[in-house]
Amino acid sequence: MHIQFSTFLDGAEWTHTNPALGAIRTGSVGLQSHLEGRLGLAPNSVPQSDRILEMQRILTMLDTPDAYFHESLQADPFATARHLLQRRDELVYAGWDGGALTEGGRRLDCLASIEKQAVGALHGPADNLLLVRNRLISWKSKLTKAQQAGPGIKGLRLTAIELCQDRSYYHPVWQSILDLLEQIGVSIHERALPDAQHEDRNSGYGKVEEKKAAEARTQPRAKSTAKAANVGLPGSGVTNLKQLQARFAGEEASRAGSKKSVGKLHPQEQKKENEAAGADLLALNEDDQSLLRISGHDEWSLAIHLAAYLAADPERNRDLAIIAANSEVLDAALAEFGLPPIGTGNVGATSVAEVMEIWLQLIWRARDKSLILAFLAHPLCPMSGSIRWPLISALADSDPNKSADWSQATELRTFLDEASLQSSTESQQMIAQRLDWLHMQCRSRVHLNPGFALLLETCKKLKTMVERQPVEGWAQLRRYIRTVAPSGSSRIAGAGPWRIVDHPGQLTDPCTTLIWWGFQDETLSSLYWSPEERKALESAGCSLESLEPARREREAARNAIRLTAANVLFYDTQTSAGESAFVHPFWDEIAAAFGAKQVGRLIRSPERAEDSKLAGRTITTIEDSVLEAPAPVDQIAVTALEPRSHFSYSSMTALLGCPAKYGFHYLLGLKSSPAVPDPKEHNILGSLAHLIVDRLIQTDPAISEAKAIAGAQKLFDETLPSALPNLLLPERNAERLVLRERMSRAVGHLMRTMQEQGLQFLESEQAINRTWKGAGGEEIPITGRIDLTLRDSGGRSAAVDLKWQNSSRRRRTEIEEGEALQLATYAWLLSEENEEPGAAYYMLKQNELLAASGMQSLQTVHAPEIGSTLNEIWQRATNSLEQSIEDLKKGHLPVSGVIQERESRDRGHTLAKVQKNLKEELRNRGEMYVSPECQYCSYGNLCGQNGGFDERY
Ligand code: SF4
Repeated sequence: MHIQFSTFLDGAEWTHTNPALGAIRTGSVGLQSHLEGRLGLAPNSVPQSDRILEMQRILTMLDTPDAYFHESLQADPFATARHLLQRRDELVYAGWDGGALTEGGRRLDCLASIEKQAVGALHGPADNLLLVRNRLISWKSKLTKAQQAGPGIKGLRLTAIELCQDRSYYHPVWQSILDLLEQIGVSIHERALPDAQHEDRNSGYGKVEEKKAAEARTQPRAKSTAKAANVGLPGSGVTNLKQLQARFAGEEASRAGSKKSVGKLHPQEQKKENEAAGADLLALNEDDQSLLRISGHDEWSLAIHLAAYLAADPERNRDLAIIAANSEVLDAALAEFGLPPIGTGNVGATSVAEVMEIWLQLIWRARDKSLILAFLAHPLCPMSGSIRWPLISALADSDPNKSADWSQATELRTFLDEASLQSSTESQQMIAQRLDWLHMQCRSRVHLNPGFALLLETCKKLKTMVERQPVEGWAQLRRYIRTVAPSGSSRIAGAGPWRIVDHPGQLTDPCTTLIWWGFQDETLSSLYWSPEERKALESAGCSLESLEPARREREAARNAIRLTAANVLFYDTQTSAGESAFVHPFWDEIAAAFGAKQVGRLIRSPERAEDSKLAGRTITTIEDSVLEAPAPVDQIAVTALEPRSHFSYSSMTALLGCPAKYGFHYLLGLKSSPAVPDPKEHNILGSLAHLIVDRLIQTDPAISEAKAIAGAQKLFDETLPSALPNLLLPERNAERLVLRERMSRAVGHLMRTMQEQGLQFLESEQAINRTWKGAGGEEIPITGRIDLTLRDSGGRSAAVDLKWQNSSRRRRTEIEEGEALQLATYAWLLSEENEEPGAAYYMLKQNELLAASGMQSLQTVHAPEIGSTLNEIWQRATNSLEQSIEDLKKGHLPVSGVIQERESRDRGHTLAKVQKNLKEELRNRGEMYVSPECQYCSYGNLCGQNGGFDERY
């Protein structure tokens, strides 16, 4: 038996060579399983959830007030058990035998006492691997001299292992197993990277780089003078990819010469090393597309781009390899082009845990409408659409006279009507009952979606677990769900011409084109061990890994690039599931080779028309081929654009910032679905801070700082369960306490500031309505709600807006640049004849009072420079408002964000510069610029900002 072995090969299917009897490719799990079989070991395979419960039992038994884990166990028994089990397993992998360790500190002492108590009950995969190692040691000791000189032990049925990674990157325990196998006659050798670059080598460029590296090894290291110099390439026509490959090959040769392992350095260290070795920045070939990064705003536009690229030349897809850890979105795009799915990633892994959590959480929050909606609208809700959707629309309707018809879902209605839990026995019954219901519903739907089969399986496991160890509340049940929820089942791949891997380390043979889908940062987590603990473990002969996981990843990516003959395309998205996403750290390697200035030119957007010719193919998007080209300007009936009869500060800024946004929101009334997740926690915290200030100041306007802090803490505790129940989860205890402290101190400081500045409280949450008369004679009511209305020592009134924001910079700049429209609006609303009220922001988190015009008499510690008076700002704003209303009446609804983006691209300016110019231009005309703030707008997909605006406008 010959085995090709690498840490990344578990689950890998593709090999470029023909399959052969007696040869397999496998990762650590596969090799461990093979060795266990051959060595006659019957591994103990206890489910992880059972091991955690066992650990929890042991911890409870050992718990004393002085125990190392005591407080954590009290706060969260399940998480504490899971964490300590993880620690314990890492130690076992490092070679720990469970014995006491001298001078290792409290944590290692604690783990040793747990192990003593466990007497093998915590046995898991790490222990099994150590059994393999020990059995090999015993076999080795029994080898006869003849066997040592001959073919080794026949029983192993293993003659050779080919390592696909640098041997030093395997985990120490695997290194020792490989050593033992070698000693008992198995041939172990490192696999040479197949050469994808013969043409390149013939051109001589690769040799030049390697020669340079060899010279650098023989010469004393001089300080580099070529830091910024782009040294020219030897000969023209050398692609960027070939340069990079030659650079990697040169570095490998250099390290091999200096007995360091390949790719052992951090990119920054690598950069320094390159400089010291005289390795200059590579000179970018501007016309070449062999190495490109396609970076898009969202995954869908990227998926369409890649599908179009693959559809452009099906014949050339035969020698193409795709790295894709999760192809769910890409598969949908491929289907639109009639191409087979890639089929990587898991089906429903997250969804199963999600729907299970929503469903069981309803036991505690049965009357939570948003939770019921979330369950009904979930793709894995096991009820038929004809029942769910009428219920969703009835529940989402804000009209109290309309009620949902539950006649088709009586059992669900009964569950929701049940009284809240009284005891833990009751909760056990309810959980079992709900799981049975879910199980029954899923049984008839497994043929519709593989996710239902996973959900069915999870119901069974969870029920067993809950029966074994009753839960004490929702937090504990949630952890059980997370533990038993499956990692998902594999998606189904179609018969495509390309080769598919889900990690660069699985690519072991050359290809012509390499596509890396999902070129995103995936944080590698590792446990921290203190220097004392490491020292104690080393003295006991244990070997912990430190930076090896990151180095393994880096080597895998480098090798994948070196195996590609012609083109590498990286696809990465800037947002994923609504959150910011970051590019894979391997991009830093490429940036270190080409330099920060040049590397940006390797980045393309999926929307840009000039990229329709990409890496040797001409891309035709599905829109181009199927749909008619849209009209350059969409016409909307003028009557639909009649502005609203009144304005607030929010609707005014929406109109001034982006009339299209105003139109979508205020004229057409387009709102987010009621079934989308709750608003952002940050916004809720802001509202909570407002509510606390309002309640305290209404009760006692002259409240002292100390009383305000105590009162704020009480209100925080009382309001949190309804405002933000998620913060009550045990794992967020620390976060909640910090927030409580921070918010109460901020409120206390606000009260002190008011007293120190002689500000008298007049009103809070004051609603004001005032009519504004335009130059054309029209009268428009403007409404506003002022957080705090105060009176200063000079008898003048002032509006204060409270802000719960992470930085005060933006608000300070607004005042300095004369753009504080919110303050100007409130001051105008508050003003009466012959009075010029003041206005200020109070930044709660920073404890800063930022006063604008009209409050300069205050001794504000953080007073910004004043750019314009509030009156001037208001004048400019209303000039713009008048103009925007006129445009609206004529049927013009400019999509400002898109227009500004396009201008920035057409002129080659940054967006900030375009906006600055616009601001100056409007100011010169006596008007006001308001940013469209596309990053916070929910209409980006509708207006074309999130992909595809080139085609629309
Ligand atoms: S995303 Fe930007 S351009 Fe589009 S509607 Fe929103 S604010 Fe306007």
